Amino acid sequence: MPENFDVIITGSGSNGISAAIYLQQKGIKTAIFEQASTPGGATRTEELSLPGFKHDVGSAILPMGYASPFFRNLPLANYGLEWIFPDIPYAHPFADGSAHAAYQDIDKTAAQLGRDENAYRDLFTPLVENWNKLENDLLGPLGIPAHPIDFLKFGLKAIPSARMLVNHYFKEEKTKVFFYGSAAHSTLPLTNIASASFGLVLTTMAHRYGWPFPKGGAQNFTNALLEYYKSLGGTLVLERNITHLEELPQAEAYMFDLTPKQLLNIKGLDFPGLYRSRMSNYNYGAGVFKIDWALNEPIPFTNDKCKLAGTVHLGFSQKEIEDSEAFIHKKNMTDTPYVLVAQHSNFDNSRAPDGKYTAWAYCHVPNGSIKDYTKIIEDQIERAAPGFKETILARSTMNTVQLQQWNPNLVGGDINGGRQDITQLFTRPIVSLSPYSTPDPRAYICSSSTPPGGGVHGMCGFNAAKKVVQDHFKDIKV
Ligand SMILES: Cc1cc2nc3c(=O)[nH]c(=O)nc-3n(C[C@H](O)[C@H](O)[C@H](O)COP(=O)(O)OP(=O)(O)OC[C@H]3O[C@@H](n4cnc5c(N)ncnc54)[C@H](O)[C@@H]3O)c2cc1C
Repeated sequence: MPENFDVIITGSGSNGISAAIYLQQKGIKTAIFEQASTPGGATRTEELSLPGFKHDVGSAILPMGYASPFFRNLPLANYGLEWIFPDIPYAHPFADGSAHAAYQDIDKTAAQLGRDENAYRDLFTPLVENWNKLENDLLGPLGIPAHPIDFLKFGLKAIPSARMLVNHYFKEEKTKVFFYGSAAHSTLPLTNIASASFGLVLTTMAHRYGWPFPKGGAQNFTNALLEYYKSLGGTLVLERNITHLEELPQAEAYMFDLTPKQLLNIKGLDFPGLYRSRMSNYNYGAGVFKIDWALNEPIPFTNDKCKLAGTVHLGFSQKEIEDSEAFIHKKNMTDTPYVLVAQHSNFDNSRAPDGKYTAWAYCHVPNGSIKDYTKIIEDQIERAAPGFKETILARSTMNTVQLQQWNPNLVGGDINGGRQDITQLFTRPIVSLSPYSTPDPRAYICSSSTPPGGGVHGMCGFNAAKKVVQDHFKDIKV
Protein backbone atom coordinates (compact mmCIF):
# COMPACT_ATOMS: atom_id res chain seq x y z
CA MET A 1 0.00 0.00 0.00
CA PRO A 2 1.44 3.42 -0.92
CA GLU A 3 1.94 5.72 2.08
CA ASN A 4 0.61 8.95 0.70
CA PHE A 5 -2.93 9.60 -0.42
CA ASP A 6 -4.65 12.79 -1.40
CA VAL A 7 -8.10 11.72 -0.19
CA ILE A 8 -9.15 8.86 2.09
CA ILE A 9 -12.70 7.49 1.94
CA THR A 10 -14.14 5.60 4.92
CA GLY A 11 -16.78 3.09 3.82
CA SER A 12 -17.03 1.06 0.60
CA GLY A 13 -20.77 1.43 -0.10
CA SER A 14 -21.81 2.51 -3.59
CA ASN A 15 -21.39 6.15 -2.56
CA GLY A 16 -17.92 5.66 -1.08
CA ILE A 17 -16.84 3.87 -4.24
CA SER A 18 -18.36 6.44 -6.62
CA ALA A 19 -16.53 9.24 -4.75
CA ALA A 20 -13.27 7.29 -4.95
CA ILE A 21 -13.69 6.52 -8.67
CA TYR A 22 -14.46 10.14 -9.57
CA LEU A 23 -11.40 11.42 -7.69
CA GLN A 24 -9.15 8.73 -9.09
CA GLN A 25 -10.38 9.58 -12.62
CA LYS A 26 -9.22 13.15 -11.93
CA GLY A 27 -5.72 11.92 -11.03
CA ILE A 28 -6.28 12.35 -7.28
CA LYS A 29 -4.75 9.50 -5.26
CA THR A 30 -7.30 7.79 -3.03
CA ALA A 31 -7.80 4.84 -0.70
CA ILE A 32 -11.01 3.34 0.65
CA PHE A 33 -11.01 1.96 4.22
CA GLU A 34 -13.83 -0.50 4.95
CA GLN A 35 -14.67 -2.17 8.25
CA ALA A 36 -16.21 -5.32 6.77
CA SER A 37 -14.31 -8.23 5.23
CA THR A 38 -16.28 -7.85 1.96
CA PRO A 39 -16.75 -4.49 0.24
CA GLY A 40 -20.01 -2.98 -0.98
CA GLY A 41 -21.98 -1.92 2.11
CA ALA A 42 -25.64 -2.61 1.38
CA THR A 43 -24.77 -3.88 -2.13
CA ARG A 44 -23.49 -7.38 -1.40
CA THR A 45 -24.49 -10.98 -2.13
CA GLU A 46 -24.14 -13.93 0.21
CA GLU A 47 -25.20 -17.59 0.37
CA LEU A 48 -27.53 -16.88 3.27
CA SER A 49 -29.91 -19.84 3.07
CA LEU A 50 -28.27 -22.94 1.55
CA PRO A 51 -24.99 -23.53 -0.33
CA GLY A 52 -25.25 -22.42 -3.96
CA PHE A 53 -28.17 -20.01 -3.39
CA LYS A 54 -26.98 -16.42 -3.90
CA HIS A 55 -29.01 -13.79 -2.04
CA ASP A 56 -28.70 -10.01 -2.19
CA VAL A 57 -28.54 -9.16 1.49
CA GLY A 58 -29.40 -5.50 0.86
CA SER A 59 -30.13 -3.81 -2.45
CA ALA A 60 -31.36 -6.12 -5.18
CA ILE A 61 -32.98 -4.25 -8.07
CA LEU A 62 -30.78 -1.46 -9.37
CA PRO A 63 -32.52 0.79 -11.95
CA MET A 64 -30.53 3.75 -10.65
CA GLY A 65 -27.33 1.74 -10.67
CA TYR A 66 -27.96 1.25 -14.39
CA ALA A 67 -29.26 4.74 -15.19
CA SER A 68 -27.39 7.03 -12.78
CA PRO A 69 -25.68 9.85 -14.70
CA PHE A 70 -22.39 8.90 -13.00
CA PHE A 71 -22.50 5.10 -13.14
CA ARG A 72 -23.88 4.77 -16.67
CA ASN A 73 -20.75 6.38 -18.11
CA LEU A 74 -18.35 3.93 -16.45
CA PRO A 75 -17.00 1.00 -18.53
CA LEU A 76 -18.36 -1.59 -16.08
CA ALA A 77 -19.11 -4.22 -18.75
CA ASN A 78 -15.33 -4.46 -19.23
CA TYR A 79 -15.06 -5.40 -15.56
CA GLY A 80 -17.54 -8.25 -15.58
CA LEU A 81 -20.91 -6.50 -15.07
CA GLU A 82 -23.87 -7.94 -16.97
CA TRP A 83 -27.34 -6.44 -16.56
CA ILE A 84 -30.45 -8.59 -16.60
CA PHE A 85 -33.74 -7.02 -17.65
CA PRO A 86 -36.79 -8.99 -16.45
CA ASP A 87 -39.61 -9.14 -19.04
CA ILE A 88 -41.66 -6.82 -16.82
CA PRO A 89 -39.99 -4.30 -14.46
CA TYR A 90 -42.64 -4.69 -11.73
CA ALA A 91 -46.16 -5.99 -11.21
CA HIS A 92 -48.90 -5.62 -8.62
CA PRO A 93 -51.42 -8.43 -8.01
CA PHE A 94 -54.94 -7.91 -6.67
CA ALA A 95 -57.21 -10.05 -4.50
CA ASP A 96 -59.38 -11.14 -7.47
CA GLY A 97 -56.41 -12.74 -9.24
CA SER A 98 -55.86 -9.89 -11.71
CA ALA A 99 -52.67 -7.80 -11.77
CA HIS A 100 -51.27 -4.62 -13.28
CA ALA A 101 -47.82 -4.65 -14.83
CA ALA A 102 -45.44 -1.73 -15.31
CA TYR A 103 -44.18 -2.62 -18.78
CA GLN A 104 -41.39 -0.51 -20.20
CA ASP A 105 -43.95 0.56 -22.83
CA ILE A 106 -46.18 3.29 -21.34
CA ASP A 107 -49.05 2.67 -23.79
CA LYS A 108 -49.14 -1.05 -23.01
CA THR A 109 -49.13 -0.22 -19.30
CA ALA A 110 -51.84 2.42 -19.63
CA ALA A 111 -54.01 0.06 -21.69
CA GLN A 112 -54.59 -2.11 -18.58
CA LEU A 113 -55.97 0.77 -16.53
CA GLY A 114 -59.53 1.19 -17.84
CA ARG A 115 -60.83 4.72 -17.17
CA ASP A 116 -57.32 5.80 -16.09
CA GLU A 117 -55.63 4.95 -19.39
CA ASN A 118 -55.29 8.53 -20.61
CA ALA A 119 -54.51 10.01 -17.20
CA TYR A 120 -51.66 7.53 -16.71
CA ARG A 121 -50.22 8.27 -20.14
CA ASP A 122 -50.52 12.03 -19.59
CA LEU A 123 -48.85 11.80 -16.19
CA PHE A 124 -45.83 9.73 -17.20
CA THR A 125 -45.10 10.53 -20.85
CA PRO A 126 -43.63 14.02 -20.15
CA LEU A 127 -41.60 12.70 -17.22
CA VAL A 128 -40.10 9.90 -19.27
CA GLU A 129 -39.42 12.17 -22.27
CA ASN A 130 -37.83 14.95 -20.18
CA TRP A 131 -35.96 12.80 -17.64
CA ASN A 132 -32.57 13.79 -19.11
CA LYS A 133 -33.37 17.44 -18.30
CA LEU A 134 -34.55 16.59 -14.77
CA GLU A 135 -32.06 14.00 -13.57
CA ASN A 136 -29.16 16.24 -12.60
CA ASP A 137 -31.39 18.66 -10.68
CA LEU A 138 -33.23 15.85 -8.90
CA LEU A 139 -30.11 13.87 -8.12
CA GLY A 140 -28.11 16.70 -6.57
CA PRO A 141 -28.31 19.19 -3.72
CA LEU A 142 -30.92 21.92 -3.73
CA GLY A 143 -29.81 24.71 -6.05
CA ILE A 144 -30.90 26.75 -9.05
CA PRO A 145 -32.26 24.17 -11.51
CA ALA A 146 -30.66 23.95 -14.95
CA HIS A 147 -34.12 23.45 -16.48
CA PRO A 148 -36.43 25.51 -14.23
CA ILE A 149 -39.67 24.98 -16.19
CA ASP A 150 -39.32 21.19 -16.34
CA PHE A 151 -38.25 21.16 -12.69
CA LEU A 152 -41.27 23.24 -11.69
CA LYS A 153 -43.63 20.98 -13.64
CA PHE A 154 -42.13 17.93 -11.92
CA GLY A 155 -42.31 19.66 -8.53
CA LEU A 156 -46.03 20.41 -8.91
CA LYS A 157 -46.68 16.68 -9.36
CA ALA A 158 -44.13 15.49 -6.81
CA ILE A 159 -44.79 17.74 -3.83
CA PRO A 160 -48.25 16.35 -2.97
CA SER A 161 -48.71 13.18 -0.99
CA ALA A 162 -49.16 9.93 -2.91
CA ARG A 163 -52.78 9.89 -1.73
CA MET A 164 -53.41 13.39 -3.13
CA LEU A 165 -51.78 12.47 -6.44
CA VAL A 166 -53.76 9.27 -6.99
CA ASN A 167 -57.03 10.91 -6.00
CA HIS A 168 -56.35 13.77 -8.39
CA TYR A 169 -55.28 11.70 -11.40
CA PHE A 170 -56.99 8.33 -11.12
CA LYS A 171 -60.50 6.96 -10.77
CA GLU A 172 -59.88 3.22 -10.42
CA GLU A 173 -58.88 1.75 -7.04
CA LYS A 174 -56.55 -0.69 -8.81
CA THR A 175 -54.62 2.12 -10.52
CA LYS A 176 -54.26 3.90 -7.19
CA VAL A 177 -52.96 0.74 -5.52
CA PHE A 178 -50.58 0.19 -8.46
CA PHE A 179 -49.08 3.67 -7.99
CA TYR A 180 -48.88 3.16 -4.23
CA GLY A 181 -46.69 0.12 -4.91
CA SER A 182 -43.85 2.31 -6.16
CA ALA A 183 -44.61 5.37 -3.96
CA ALA A 184 -44.34 3.21 -0.82
CA HIS A 185 -40.63 2.65 -1.54
CA SER A 186 -40.31 6.04 0.19
CA THR A 187 -40.94 4.34 3.56
CA LEU A 188 -43.13 7.35 4.36
CA PRO A 189 -46.83 7.49 5.22
CA LEU A 190 -48.55 7.89 1.85
CA THR A 191 -50.39 10.90 3.23
CA ASN A 192 -47.05 12.72 3.73
CA ILE A 193 -46.08 15.62 1.49
CA ALA A 194 -43.69 14.53 -1.28
CA SER A 195 -44.38 10.80 -0.87
CA ALA A 196 -45.67 11.00 -4.47
CA SER A 197 -42.19 11.90 -5.69
CA PHE A 198 -40.82 8.38 -5.12
CA GLY A 199 -43.60 6.79 -7.15
CA LEU A 200 -43.06 9.29 -9.96
CA VAL A 201 -39.30 8.77 -10.16
CA LEU A 202 -39.37 4.97 -9.81
CA THR A 203 -42.16 4.56 -12.36
CA THR A 204 -40.36 6.91 -14.73
CA MET A 205 -37.26 4.70 -14.38
CA ALA A 206 -39.34 1.61 -15.19
CA HIS A 207 -40.65 3.16 -18.43
CA ARG A 208 -37.43 4.82 -19.50
CA TYR A 209 -34.86 2.17 -18.57
CA GLY A 210 -36.57 -0.89 -17.03
CA TRP A 211 -35.71 -2.19 -13.57
CA PRO A 212 -32.60 -4.30 -14.21
CA PHE A 213 -30.33 -6.13 -11.79
CA PRO A 214 -26.78 -7.45 -12.05
CA LYS A 215 -26.33 -11.04 -13.21
CA GLY A 216 -25.11 -13.25 -10.38
CA GLY A 217 -25.94 -10.80 -7.60
CA ALA A 218 -25.66 -7.16 -6.54
CA GLN A 219 -22.14 -7.98 -5.34
CA ASN A 220 -21.14 -8.16 -9.01
CA PHE A 221 -22.06 -4.48 -9.37
CA THR A 222 -19.78 -3.63 -6.42
CA ASN A 223 -17.05 -5.90 -7.77
CA ALA A 224 -17.14 -4.31 -11.24
CA LEU A 225 -16.94 -0.82 -9.70
CA LEU A 226 -13.97 -1.86 -7.58
CA GLU A 227 -12.13 -3.60 -10.42
CA TYR A 228 -12.48 -0.42 -12.47
CA TYR A 229 -11.38 1.66 -9.45
CA LYS A 230 -8.29 -0.51 -8.99
CA SER A 231 -7.50 -0.20 -12.71
CA LEU A 232 -7.35 3.56 -12.14
CA GLY A 233 -4.78 3.00 -9.36
CA GLY A 234 -7.19 3.09 -6.38
CA THR A 235 -6.50 1.23 -3.13
CA LEU A 236 -9.05 -0.75 -1.08
CA VAL A 237 -8.27 -1.70 2.53
CA LEU A 238 -10.70 -4.14 4.20
CA GLU A 239 -11.34 -4.97 7.87
CA ARG A 240 -10.41 -1.53 9.20
CA ASN A 241 -13.09 -0.13 11.47
CA ILE A 242 -12.29 3.56 11.69
CA THR A 243 -12.98 5.19 15.05
CA HIS A 244 -10.38 8.01 15.05
CA LEU A 245 -8.88 10.16 12.28
CA GLU A 246 -5.44 9.08 13.52
CA GLU A 247 -6.14 5.53 12.29
CA LEU A 248 -6.07 6.82 8.69
CA PRO A 249 -2.98 7.86 6.70
CA GLN A 250 -2.32 11.59 6.29
CA ALA A 251 -4.39 13.12 3.48
CA GLU A 252 -5.62 16.42 2.16
CA ALA A 253 -9.27 15.48 2.73
CA TYR A 254 -11.32 12.69 4.32
CA MET A 255 -14.67 11.52 3.03
CA PHE A 256 -17.06 9.51 5.18
CA ASP A 257 -19.64 7.17 3.65
CA LEU A 258 -21.38 7.19 7.04
CA THR A 259 -24.65 8.47 8.47
CA PRO A 260 -24.62 11.46 10.87
CA LYS A 261 -24.72 9.40 14.08
CA GLN A 262 -21.66 7.40 12.96
CA LEU A 263 -19.77 10.48 11.75
CA LEU A 264 -20.20 12.12 15.17
CA ASN A 265 -18.59 9.03 16.73
CA ILE A 266 -15.37 9.45 14.73
CA LYS A 267 -12.83 11.07 17.03
CA GLY A 268 -10.27 13.66 15.97
CA LEU A 269 -12.65 15.71 13.81
CA ASP A 270 -12.98 19.37 14.64
CA PHE A 271 -16.77 19.83 14.89
CA PRO A 272 -18.21 22.70 16.94
CA GLY A 273 -21.06 22.03 19.39
CA LEU A 274 -23.68 23.63 17.15
CA TYR A 275 -22.91 21.30 14.23
CA ARG A 276 -22.87 18.29 16.58
CA SER A 277 -26.23 19.29 17.97
CA ARG A 278 -27.76 19.83 14.49
CA MET A 279 -26.39 16.49 13.27
CA SER A 280 -27.65 14.68 16.36
CA ASN A 281 -31.16 15.95 15.54
CA TYR A 282 -31.03 14.11 12.20
CA ASN A 283 -34.00 11.73 11.91
CA TYR A 284 -33.72 8.09 10.93
CA GLY A 285 -36.67 6.46 9.17
CA ALA A 286 -38.56 3.21 9.60
CA GLY A 287 -36.61 -0.04 9.39
CA VAL A 288 -37.12 -3.20 7.36
CA PHE A 289 -37.53 -6.89 8.14
CA LYS A 290 -35.75 -8.88 5.43
CA ILE A 291 -36.28 -12.47 4.22
CA ASP A 292 -34.39 -14.51 1.63
CA TRP A 293 -35.68 -17.89 0.53
CA ALA A 294 -34.22 -20.90 -1.22
CA LEU A 295 -37.12 -22.33 -3.24
CA ASN A 296 -37.89 -25.59 -4.95
CA GLU A 297 -39.78 -23.80 -7.72
CA PRO A 298 -40.58 -20.20 -8.71
CA ILE A 299 -43.13 -18.34 -6.58
CA PRO A 300 -46.46 -19.73 -7.89
CA PHE A 301 -48.15 -16.39 -8.53
CA THR A 302 -51.71 -16.87 -9.80
CA ASN A 303 -51.28 -14.12 -12.35
CA ASP A 304 -48.74 -14.61 -15.14
CA LYS A 305 -47.75 -10.94 -15.18
CA CYS A 306 -46.31 -11.45 -11.69
CA LYS A 307 -44.30 -14.46 -12.85
CA LEU A 308 -42.68 -12.30 -15.57
CA ALA A 309 -41.85 -9.37 -13.27
CA GLY A 310 -38.49 -8.93 -11.51
CA THR A 311 -40.22 -7.09 -8.67
CA VAL A 312 -43.69 -7.64 -7.27
CA HIS A 313 -45.37 -5.14 -4.92
CA LEU A 314 -47.91 -6.57 -2.48
CA GLY A 315 -50.71 -4.64 -0.81
CA PHE A 316 -54.27 -5.52 -1.69
CA SER A 317 -56.11 -2.21 -1.28
CA GLN A 318 -55.40 1.48 -0.97
CA LYS A 319 -56.30 1.34 2.73
CA GLU A 320 -54.13 -1.70 3.36
CA ILE A 321 -50.99 0.02 2.01
CA GLU A 322 -51.83 3.36 3.64
CA ASP A 323 -52.31 1.72 7.04
CA SER A 324 -49.17 -0.39 6.67
CA GLU A 325 -46.99 2.64 5.96
CA ALA A 326 -48.66 4.87 8.58
CA PHE A 327 -48.60 2.37 11.47
CA ILE A 328 -44.84 1.73 11.34
CA HIS A 329 -44.18 5.35 12.30
CA LYS A 330 -46.39 4.86 15.35
CA LYS A 331 -44.27 1.87 16.42
CA ASN A 332 -47.00 -0.49 15.28
CA MET A 333 -47.68 -2.93 12.43
CA THR A 334 -50.70 -4.19 10.57
CA ASP A 335 -51.09 -7.93 9.89
CA THR A 336 -51.18 -7.21 6.16
CA PRO A 337 -48.09 -5.09 5.43
CA TYR A 338 -46.93 -3.69 2.13
CA VAL A 339 -44.30 -6.18 0.92
CA LEU A 340 -41.63 -5.84 -1.77
CA VAL A 341 -40.66 -9.10 -3.46
CA ALA A 342 -37.82 -9.69 -5.95
CA GLN A 343 -37.42 -12.95 -7.86
CA HIS A 344 -34.07 -12.79 -9.63
CA SER A 345 -33.67 -16.48 -10.38
CA ASN A 346 -36.70 -16.52 -12.72
CA PHE A 347 -34.44 -14.55 -15.10
CA ASP A 348 -30.92 -15.37 -13.84
CA ASN A 349 -30.09 -19.05 -13.43
CA SER A 350 -26.71 -18.25 -11.90
CA ARG A 351 -28.45 -17.41 -8.61
CA ALA A 352 -29.37 -20.95 -7.57
CA PRO A 353 -28.41 -24.59 -8.28
CA ASP A 354 -30.01 -26.14 -11.38
CA GLY A 355 -33.80 -26.25 -11.20
CA LYS A 356 -33.91 -24.30 -7.90
CA TYR A 357 -34.87 -20.69 -7.20
CA THR A 358 -34.36 -17.76 -4.83
CA ALA A 359 -36.66 -14.99 -3.64
CA TRP A 360 -35.97 -11.79 -1.70
CA ALA A 361 -38.48 -9.69 0.23
CA TYR A 362 -38.91 -7.15 2.97
CA CYS A 363 -41.60 -5.18 4.70
CA HIS A 364 -41.22 -1.86 6.49
CA VAL A 365 -41.26 -2.07 10.29
CA PRO A 366 -40.75 0.36 13.19
CA ASN A 367 -37.15 1.56 13.51
CA GLY A 368 -35.25 -0.77 15.85
CA SER A 369 -37.94 -3.50 15.88
CA ILE A 370 -36.69 -6.99 16.79
CA LYS A 371 -39.97 -8.80 16.09
CA ASP A 372 -40.11 -11.68 13.62
CA TYR A 373 -42.39 -10.80 10.68
CA THR A 374 -41.79 -14.01 8.71
CA LYS A 375 -45.35 -15.27 8.99
CA ILE A 376 -47.10 -12.06 7.96
CA ILE A 377 -44.78 -11.61 4.96
CA GLU A 378 -45.29 -15.20 3.81
CA ASP A 379 -49.07 -14.89 4.38
CA GLN A 380 -49.13 -11.81 2.12
CA ILE A 381 -47.30 -13.72 -0.63
CA GLU A 382 -49.70 -16.68 -0.27
CA ARG A 383 -52.64 -14.35 -1.04
CA ALA A 384 -51.19 -13.76 -4.53
CA ALA A 385 -49.40 -17.11 -4.86
CA PRO A 386 -51.27 -19.94 -3.11
CA GLY A 387 -48.92 -22.82 -2.40
CA PHE A 388 -45.88 -20.54 -1.96
CA LYS A 389 -45.06 -21.90 1.49
CA GLU A 390 -44.75 -25.45 0.11
CA THR A 391 -41.99 -24.30 -2.28
CA ILE A 392 -39.70 -23.14 0.56
CA LEU A 393 -36.52 -25.18 1.07
CA ALA A 394 -34.88 -22.80 3.54
CA ARG A 395 -35.04 -19.20 4.64
CA SER A 396 -32.82 -16.55 6.19
CA THR A 397 -34.35 -13.64 8.11
CA MET A 398 -32.83 -10.41 9.39
CA ASN A 399 -34.52 -8.01 11.80
CA THR A 400 -33.46 -4.39 12.09
CA VAL A 401 -30.79 -5.10 14.70
CA GLN A 402 -29.27 -7.92 12.65
CA LEU A 403 -29.23 -5.67 9.59
CA GLN A 404 -27.36 -2.99 11.53
CA GLN A 405 -24.88 -5.59 12.79
CA TRP A 406 -24.28 -6.59 9.18
CA ASN A 407 -23.82 -2.96 8.06
CA PRO A 408 -23.56 -0.21 10.72
CA ASN A 409 -25.02 2.36 8.30
CA LEU A 410 -28.45 0.66 8.58
CA VAL A 411 -29.28 2.51 11.79
CA GLY A 412 -32.32 0.86 13.39
CA GLY A 413 -32.82 -1.00 10.08
CA ASP A 414 -33.26 2.24 8.07
CA ILE A 415 -32.12 1.34 4.54
CA ASN A 416 -32.04 4.92 3.24
CA GLY A 417 -29.54 6.52 5.62
CA GLY A 418 -32.25 8.68 7.22
CA ARG A 419 -35.89 9.59 6.86
CA GLN A 420 -36.68 10.94 3.37
CA ASP A 421 -39.50 13.30 4.21
CA ILE A 422 -39.78 16.84 2.90
CA THR A 423 -37.58 18.17 5.75
CA GLN A 424 -34.70 15.84 4.85
CA LEU A 425 -35.15 15.05 1.17
CA PHE A 426 -32.87 17.69 -0.36
CA THR A 427 -31.56 19.14 2.90
CA ARG A 428 -29.82 16.14 4.38
CA PRO A 429 -27.98 15.85 6.72
CA ILE A 430 -28.64 19.48 7.69
CA VAL A 431 -29.97 22.57 5.91
CA SER A 432 -26.89 23.88 4.15
CA LEU A 433 -25.87 25.24 0.76
CA SER A 434 -23.12 22.64 0.81
CA PRO A 435 -24.57 19.54 2.49
CA TYR A 436 -21.45 17.41 1.83
CA SER A 437 -19.11 19.79 3.70
CA THR A 438 -18.61 19.82 7.45
CA PRO A 439 -17.17 22.57 9.67
CA ASP A 440 -13.86 20.66 9.69
CA PRO A 441 -12.40 21.71 6.31
CA ARG A 442 -10.75 18.29 5.93
CA ALA A 443 -13.95 16.25 6.41
CA TYR A 444 -16.86 15.50 4.06
CA ILE A 445 -19.91 13.26 4.31
CA CYS A 446 -20.84 11.32 1.17
CA SER A 447 -23.36 8.62 2.20
CA SER A 448 -27.06 8.31 1.40
CA SER A 449 -27.58 10.72 4.33
CA THR A 450 -26.76 13.45 1.76
CA PRO A 451 -28.72 14.43 -1.39
CA PRO A 452 -30.22 12.67 -3.27
CA GLY A 453 -30.62 10.06 -0.49
CA GLY A 454 -31.14 6.28 -0.54
CA GLY A 455 -30.65 3.95 -3.49
CA VAL A 456 -27.73 2.59 -5.44
CA HIS A 457 -26.94 5.53 -7.74
CA GLY A 458 -23.61 6.76 -6.38
CA MET A 459 -24.74 10.36 -6.81
CA CYS A 460 -24.13 11.30 -3.15
CA GLY A 461 -20.52 10.21 -3.49
CA PHE A 462 -20.13 11.83 -6.91
CA ASN A 463 -21.57 15.19 -5.74
CA ALA A 464 -19.46 15.14 -2.57
CA ALA A 465 -16.30 14.32 -4.51
CA LYS A 466 -16.89 17.29 -6.83
CA LYS A 467 -17.04 19.51 -3.72
CA VAL A 468 -13.74 18.04 -2.48
CA VAL A 469 -12.12 18.87 -5.85
CA GLN A 470 -13.51 22.43 -5.79
CA ASP A 471 -12.23 23.01 -2.24
CA HIS A 472 -8.87 21.22 -2.25
CA PHE A 473 -7.71 20.72 -5.83
CA LYS A 474 -8.49 24.06 -7.40
CA ASP A 475 -6.29 23.41 -10.46
CA ILE A 476 -8.46 20.46 -11.47
CA LYS A 477 -11.66 21.11 -13.43
CA VAL A 478 -14.77 19.40 -11.97
C1 LIG B 1 -32.53 -4.64 2.65
C2 LIG B 1 -32.19 -3.50 1.71
C3 LIG B 1 -32.79 -3.44 0.45
C4 LIG B 1 -32.49 -2.41 -0.43
N1 LIG B 1 -33.00 -2.46 -1.70
C5 LIG B 1 -32.56 -1.57 -2.61
C6 LIG B 1 -32.82 -1.78 -3.98
O1 LIG B 1 -33.40 -2.81 -4.38
N2 LIG B 1 -32.40 -0.83 -4.87
C7 LIG B 1 -31.68 0.26 -4.47
O2 LIG B 1 -31.30 1.09 -5.33
N3 LIG B 1 -31.38 0.47 -3.18
C8 LIG B 1 -31.77 -0.44 -2.25
N4 LIG B 1 -31.39 -0.31 -0.94
C9 LIG B 1 -30.74 0.94 -0.49
C10 LIG B 1 -29.27 1.01 -0.89
O3 LIG B 1 -28.65 -0.23 -0.66
C11 LIG B 1 -28.56 2.10 -0.08
O4 LIG B 1 -29.24 3.32 -0.22
C12 LIG B 1 -27.11 2.28 -0.57
O5 LIG B 1 -26.41 1.06 -0.40
C13 LIG B 1 -26.42 3.36 0.22
O6 LIG B 1 -25.06 3.37 -0.14
P1 LIG B 1 -24.00 4.10 0.78
O7 LIG B 1 -22.70 4.04 0.07
O8 LIG B 1 -24.51 5.44 1.18
O9 LIG B 1 -23.93 3.24 2.15
P2 LIG B 1 -23.70 1.71 2.41
O10 LIG B 1 -23.94 0.90 1.22
O11 LIG B 1 -24.47 1.39 3.64
O12 LIG B 1 -22.12 1.61 2.75
C14 LIG B 1 -21.54 2.14 3.92
C15 LIG B 1 -20.23 1.39 4.18
O13 LIG B 1 -19.51 2.02 5.25
C16 LIG B 1 -18.91 0.98 6.03
N5 LIG B 1 -18.61 1.52 7.36
C17 LIG B 1 -19.50 1.92 8.28
N6 LIG B 1 -18.86 2.37 9.38
C18 LIG B 1 -17.52 2.24 9.12
C19 LIG B 1 -16.34 2.55 9.87
N7 LIG B 1 -16.39 3.11 11.09
N8 LIG B 1 -15.13 2.27 9.31
C20 LIG B 1 -15.05 1.72 8.07
N9 LIG B 1 -16.13 1.43 7.32
C21 LIG B 1 -17.36 1.70 7.84
C22 LIG B 1 -19.97 -0.09 6.05
O14 LIG B 1 -19.44 -1.35 6.44
C23 LIG B 1 -20.45 -0.05 4.60
O15 LIG B 1 -19.65 -0.91 3.80
C24 LIG B 1 -31.61 -1.36 -0.03
C25 LIG B 1 -30.99 -1.43 1.22
C26 LIG B 1 -31.25 -2.50 2.07
C27 LIG B 1 -30.51 -2.61 3.38
